[in-house]
Amino acid sequence: MSKLILISNRLPTTAQKINGFLTYQKSIGGLATGLKNYHAQTDSIWVGWPGIADEEITPAEKKAIQNELQNTYQCRPVFLTEKEIDRYYNGFCNETIWPLFHYFAGKTKYDIETWEAYRQVNEKFFKTVATVIGENDIIWVHDYQLMLLPKMIKEQFPDTQVGFFLHIPFPSSEIFRLLIWREEILRGLLGADLIGFHTFEYTRHFLSSTRHLLGLENTMNRISYEDRYVQADAFPMGIDYQFFTQKHEDNSFQEEAREIIEKTKDMKIILSVDRLDYTKGIPERLKAFGRFLTHYPEYREKVRFNLIVAPSRVEVDIYDDLRKEITELVSSINGNFGTFTWMPVWFFFRSFSQESLIALYRHSDVLLVTPLRDGMNLVCKEYIAARTDYEGMVVISETAGAASELGEAVIVNANDYNAIASGLKTALDMPREEKIARNKMMHRRLRRYNVDFWASEFLHALQRTVSESKQTIMQRSIEKDSHLIENAYQNANKRVLFLDYDGTLVGFCPQPDQARPDEELIQLLEVLVNDPRNTVVIISGRERYDLEEWFQNLNLYIIASHGLWLRYPGQEWIMTTSLDNDWKDPIRHIMELYTDRIPGSLIEEKDYSLAWHYRQSDPDMIAVKLSEVRETLRSIIQSETLGLQEGNKVLEVKDNRVNKGFGAAAFTQNQDYDFIFAVGDDYTDEDLFSSLPQDAYTVKIGLGNTNAAYFLKSWQSMRLLLKKFADISNHLKKE
Ligand code: UDP
Repeated sequence: MSKLILISNRLPTTAQKINGFLTYQKSIGGLATGLKNYHAQTDSIWVGWPGIADEEITPAEKKAIQNELQNTYQCRPVFLTEKEIDRYYNGFCNETIWPLFHYFAGKTKYDIETWEAYRQVNEKFFKTVATVIGENDIIWVHDYQLMLLPKMIKEQFPDTQVGFFLHIPFPSSEIFRLLIWREEILRGLLGADLIGFHTFEYTRHFLSSTRHLLGLENTMNRISYEDRYVQADAFPMGIDYQFFTQKHEDNSFQEEAREIIEKTKDMKIILSVDRLDYTKGIPERLKAFGRFLTHYPEYREKVRFNLIVAPSRVEVDIYDDLRKEITELVSSINGNFGTFTWMPVWFFFRSFSQESLIALYRHSDVLLVTPLRDGMNLVCKEYIAARTDYEGMVVISETAGAASELGEAVIVNANDYNAIASGLKTALDMPREEKIARNKMMHRRLRRYNVDFWASEFLHALQRTVSESKQTIMQRSIEKDSHLIENAYQNANKRVLFLDYDGTLVGFCPQPDQARPDEELIQLLEVLVNDPRNTVVIISGRERYDLEEWFQNLNLYIIASHGLWLRYPGQEWIMTTSLDNDWKDPIRHIMELYTDRIPGSLIEEKDYSLAWHYRQSDPDMIAVKLSEVRETLRSIIQSETLGLQEGNKVLEVKDNRVNKGFGAAAFTQNQDYDFIFAVGDDYTDEDLFSSLPQDAYTVKIGLGNTNAAYFLKSWQSMRLLLKKFADISNHLKKE
């Protein structure tokens, strides 16, 4: 039986020490409250920090917390020291990722120590997770504090289903690329099978970052990555609709909220509720409210603005500065516009229970939410739900994730004070029927797409993604069957190994001549060619000169230019077919036109082909232009012997009579090999795979349509396999 493992920075239950006694409380925050029910209803375990630093508790208390959380709350705590909390959470999470992902590039700090702490704490989480993972478990990692965790899990537990959800915005790739550790973060996330965001825009930004920074293309939001598919999609988080629509009469909240409500019966109430954060646009909102009172003096003494700000991260300087700025702005507005009987802004710097908030929501005519950036913003959804009479109205900025779902609200630009002021007036003046009609539509959406629906929708999509991946990937992973292939190698007396070069034995480089073989590769090949049972053939699309220079001291066979040239160890090159080159001029002309227009692209001319490479070009430009280049080339290919093939960031027009299959045939014909092995990474290797007998071990590096029987994750995994072959050869030599 598989179970669900939820992982987030904070557990839904917080441990506290009050007067020397341990107590346990519900954690505050959208994620914890949102998933609490789901956690309670399912066979799940929640892993996270219990909210108390190691230094505050004794080892015995730690044990007690562990037991209580495990037995009563199905939770597994990850304990953190004060230093870890300071560097990982206050530091990297809240001084690097938080500001950058909310587009506050100027407030973003880049500190190697906090990055290191982030990595270490992610590992610490992994260690706890590893103790509870069972076969085929479903794992759901949450939010920006744990972006390295999916990769750690997938590497050690490849058969688990891993989902990740980001609760804050994913910024445009132009902003994201400012991060020093951008590649590690992306690769960390790509350990997940499904990556969820609140909006389609954030999904698009993520896919654009993986394309620009890692060169990974996607089709219908699906990236083929190593030996798997990774899906990215939007899942806007909902609220506990029922909780916000029901009555909460028997709670003490009535007392707390009554005073405010009583005093303001005759006024139009404007409400806003935020955590203290510079992303929430609170000073800007206050200035816009001042503008509203200036532009529309008829509202003076008729409205009251209840500004609720829940304290948050107050130990950080910029948050304290923000609190002071808000206090000053409130005083200034009250000083400028207030009268002896009327104070326009009421500022509450404290948090309210959700039951109190519901009472306040129900007595507020307009909810004003104008974050400069907000991943989602649940408060506006809660307000709409709580107003079961449908008579409230929300004014929301377009930079809140929720705005994309709440098209019927009044939508404004958070920096445009005039727009906020007039939006406020529109909302206050909106005819009752119109408000009801608009709210009914929003209610319908919130009722259906509530938080439980959101969670089950995400988990179903995760299962779907994993099972579709399994169905699509027809080849077997050689890593899983490596013992079969190693045994076959060990038991064979006459072996032939066809090894493609670029992307198979070495990784790709920006310029082809930079991809020289490294020392480790040369040594491995040396062991293999010195085994008398082996015929080792490098089979490449490269020109023969590079290959000859690199491998001349090794006793191996080389097939260059996709089969046009053949060289036996230490001998002269043999041309396998005679060619004519008349077809090249018109094709070269077209390629030159595109090379002039698309920066970074280049033409490579070979004896039998012309290749147009675009690895260095802007991927967005390529996405727009590639089909045009392809169609133009196709339209001028006249001869039957020519073909257009598409490879890894390259379009190649080539003479079809030259291919790796023909090249390999020269070796396999009339031979009695008992172990045939061929490995390659792109379309040119397909001719090779299909030319070999059924029992050959054919291996494609990476995923995609292929004639190969097996696949391997990457050229690094191929190295590991070569090492195993070399170990066997060395071992046999000693025997
Ligand atoms: N909240 C609360 N008491 C307060 C202020 C806020 O319980 O005094 C809750 C609010 O009901 C909402 C959450 O905190 O569920 C805030 O979520 P939101 O997405 O609006 O903002 P975030 O704090 O996640 O940035």
